[in-house]
Amino acid sequence: MTPSCPSCQAPFTPGAETCERCGASLLVASAPGSAEPVCAVHPEWQSVATCPRCGAFACARCLRQGPEGAICVTCHEREPLGQLPWDQREQLGTLRAFWRTCYGLLMQPTNTLRGINPDAPVSSSMTFVLLSAIAGFLTTGIVYTAIIGIVLGLVPQTDTGGADPKTLKLWMTVGMAAWTVLMPFFSTGMTLANAGLDHLILRMGGVERGFSVTMRAHALSQAPYIVGVIPFVAVYAAPFWAMGLRAFAYRTLHRTSWGTALAGALLVPVLSCCLCGGVYGAFIFAAFKSGLGAQG
Ligand SMILES: [Zn+2]
Ligand SMILES: [Zn+2]
Ligand SMILES: [Zn+2]
Repeated sequence: MTPSCPSCQAPFTPGAETCERCGASLLVASAPGSAEPVCAVHPEWQSVATCPRCGAFACARCLRQGPEGAICVTCHEREPLGQLPWDQREQLGTLRAFWRTCYGLLMQPTNTLRGINPDAPVSSSMTFVLLSAIAGFLTTGIVYTAIIGIVLGLVPQTDTGGADPKTLKLWMTVGMAAWTVLMPFFSTGMTLANAGLDHLILRMGGVERGFSVTMRAHALSQAPYIVGVIPFVAVYAAPFWAMGLRAFAYRTLHRTSWGTALAGALLVPVLSCCLCGGVYGAFIFAAFKSGLGAQG
């Protein structure tokens, strides 16, 4: 929320005490007995904005620029402007910004998320997800492709049902390579859908900030996939790490309760797991039953 000049309503930058447009002082004396809100620190001045963090009424002298807009000086001193390396891509370069963000989120998530702008364009978050997915899948995919290629090369010429064995091997290797390349894109799309579902749950939990905040938190929680540069490990360990980090990011960026943050982070994966498990179970059961039927 941008504060505006009490005289001409033009928006002003927090920290200013005179209006850039009309030149009037932004500090307006409060009229005694008036219903107008006054500054919590200086009751002699009218309030020009409420702090989005603590809700205090603030005069122009008490406003500072915070990551989410104008905040009061008390909150500003408590939590100075934090900078996420990912938001400094222009200075650092995309890859270094990505690596530093991941490292920070894995080693000291509290410090890394403290005071950062909770909001970012969805496209910025999507780029982060894509890089995490590439880090998570690419190495494992390459190793799998290599193994399949080698294993297929060692397999003796068996009956391949009339197909040329060489062509078959080639296509399997190509298929594996294609999977490796397409998987990050598929996974990025899935993340967008999952963040949408998480956002619905967070909304039900009373969260007021927009989808781009949820998307940002969800994207940042993909950082553990960077351990995917160690083949095989990430695919199995990272999802759980990411879920925990996601609950933490939802709580920090949305400033919500642990209950809402945990529901937002866990409900969708748990439900989809139950659903998949249920379908899988039903499938096994049906196969088992038809097997019995065939025997009897
Ligand atoms: Zn003005
Ligand atoms: Zn405040
Ligand atoms: Zn004040």
